Amino acid sequence: AFLTFEGIDGSGKSTQARRLADALRQSGHDVLLTREPGGSPGAEEIRSLLLHGEPDRWSAETELLMFTAARRDHVERTIQPALEAGKVVICDRFVDSTRVYQGITRGDLRAKVDTLHALMIGLEADLSFLIDINPNIALARATRRIGAEARFESFGIELQATLRAGFLNLANRSRRFRVIAGNRSEDEVHADVARIAETWLGP
Ligand code: C5P
Repeated sequence: AFLTFEGIDGSGKSTQARRLADALRQSGHDVLLTREPGGSPGAEEIRSLLLHGEPDRWSAETELLMFTAARRDHVERTIQPALEAGKVVICDRFVDSTRVYQGITRGDLRAKVDTLHALMIGLEADLSFLIDINPNIALARATRRIGAEARFESFGIELQATLRAGFLNLANRSRRFRVIAGNRSEDEVHADVARIAETWLGP
């Protein structure tokens, strides 16, 4: 089974992905926790190129190709082998992040994102959690984080609101999504996520 977490910066999705992985391991599942951009040695190299360059180092299209290249490597080397081994794969961000970040923030590249995904990757999550949160709350969390990756987290409130709407729009159009209210305590969010995942996975 392939489970993903999506949301804007500071939504708490990484914490929730880690907590779900712990909970599922406790209940006996064989779990692989991974993340994007990154998740394989090659994709982690692309991640550091993407996150530490100047904002306009690459065009929007080149950046989309780099995210797609990273994802292809991640799927080939990490995700697909784990799925074939029968593991539950939990991924912190996947193609829905690209549909939103690369798809709508630097012009409308949504059709290109979907075409490239269909051509080069194809894999979609079985179940996706959107940790939905007001950008004002999320930004306060994200900027508190040590080593925040300035390249992207310099996104202002307005852009974060656009991203939030983009994620909600995707979620409303796809049955694999569960929208989780992220403006609650970590424990409350986790309880919802764990219940949904355990029910979905079955005994
Ligand atoms: O989720 P995480 O904080 O690790 O993501 C790192 C940064 O990369 C985020 O600040 C996010 O804005 C950016 N990102 C992006 N496009 C993606 C995935 C992440 O711009 N497809």
